[in-house]
Amino acid sequence: MTKQKLGLNTICTHVGDIKDEQFNGAVSPIYLSTSYQFEDVDVLRYPRYFNTPNQEYLSKKIAALEHAEAAMIFGSGMAAISTSLMAFLSAGDHIVLQKDLYGGTRNLVETQFDRYHIEYTFTEGLKLSDFEKVLQPNTKMIYIETPSNPLLKIVDIKEIADLSISRNIISVIDNTFASPVIQNPIDFGIDIVIHSATKYFGGHSDICAGAVASTQEHISTIWNLAKNTGGSLSDFTVWMLERSMKTLGIRVRTQNRNAKKIARFLERHERINKVYYPGLKSHPDYKLAKTQMKSFGAMLSFELIEGIDASAFLKALNLIKPTMSLAGVESTMLLPYKASHALLSQEERDAQGITDRLIRFSVGIESRKDIIQDIEQAILKTSSKVLIN
Ligand SMILES: *Cc1c(COP(=O)(O)O)cnc(C)c1O
Repeated sequence: MTKQKLGLNTICTHVGDIKDEQFNGAVSPIYLSTSYQFEDVDVLRYPRYFNTPNQEYLSKKIAALEHAEAAMIFGSGMAAISTSLMAFLSAGDHIVLQKDLYGGTRNLVETQFDRYHIEYTFTEGLKLSDFEKVLQPNTKMIYIETPSNPLLKIVDIKEIADLSISRNIISVIDNTFASPVIQNPIDFGIDIVIHSATKYFGGHSDICAGAVASTQEHISTIWNLAKNTGGSLSDFTVWMLERSMKTLGIRVRTQNRNAKKIARFLERHERINKVYYPGLKSHPDYKLAKTQMKSFGAMLSFELIEGIDASAFLKALNLIKPTMSLAGVESTMLLPYKASHALLSQEERDAQGITDRLIRFSVGIESRKDIIQDIEQAILKTSSKVLIN
């Protein structure tokens, strides 16, 4: 076969297929064995060694999508994150983490790291200087997440990668919000890319999984811990994830197109105060986003005008579901102050700009006119209530 560079949708559909030698079926067989031959083999296979046939082959697809040498699949995004961090950090090491982080990651660091004597600092802002000024001689890792949740702030990936390389620090990114369809951090020099595969990889709100992609060397280091801590994913679910990932490209591109148009609709709407989407020229990081994102993703947030109750608005929706989590083919909305950011104090939320009227919107693949119509009718319904009361 010629070594031509495959397109994204071809990688999604075919890379990491397991050939069905026995029956020549079109899709990968599923191997549920927890017991494999031990003599005369190169590798000892076992689910918790992350190397069953389904695990091994789906990892190839993930590695190809992230332009990485190797990848691993985990039982959740947090299993991928915790294992990747703990595989590199030892007592006396220091990690710098970006201020606006996924709540679970922040919680892991704040509740567990002291016990292992791992030092950590959250940055004050998201500029390069915010990272530079908190570096210490023992800083071993820098951890970022861009676009951030829920305000879609952008961190300059190249600057962070360059800084890390110049100081011999390992750089890690949580690339969940963008997905590899939109953003490939390894191309900018980032060492380790992590995904909550529960989100865009799964894409149908029915799989909980995680993934890490990096060099073979780093993946081996992570594997050395992972095989002991045991956060592997069942082969049933690995197979389901493979099935989902065949449509990752077409799903995310459709969601992305919807989000771009809907962000503009929301921005023009007189009853919407503010829209946070890196693809809008009004977004403070629009120019930066353009340098590192192929498009702008399908996550956005918006704030209703005063007088419209956000909970009432969500209840008035017919099509869009007011549920937790994100990235499914169906559009969902949530209130960060009641859900993803409920653990922050009011002051912390105020400081971050997370008001009681802020709504996070995971844009789905539905027909755009129906999504817009649903938002329109919910605004009308809840605004008139406000007026009547
Ligand atoms: C959901 C999420 C996680 C955690 O993933 P789980 O699969 O829920 O463990 C981590 N980072 C981001 C950005 C997420 O959205």
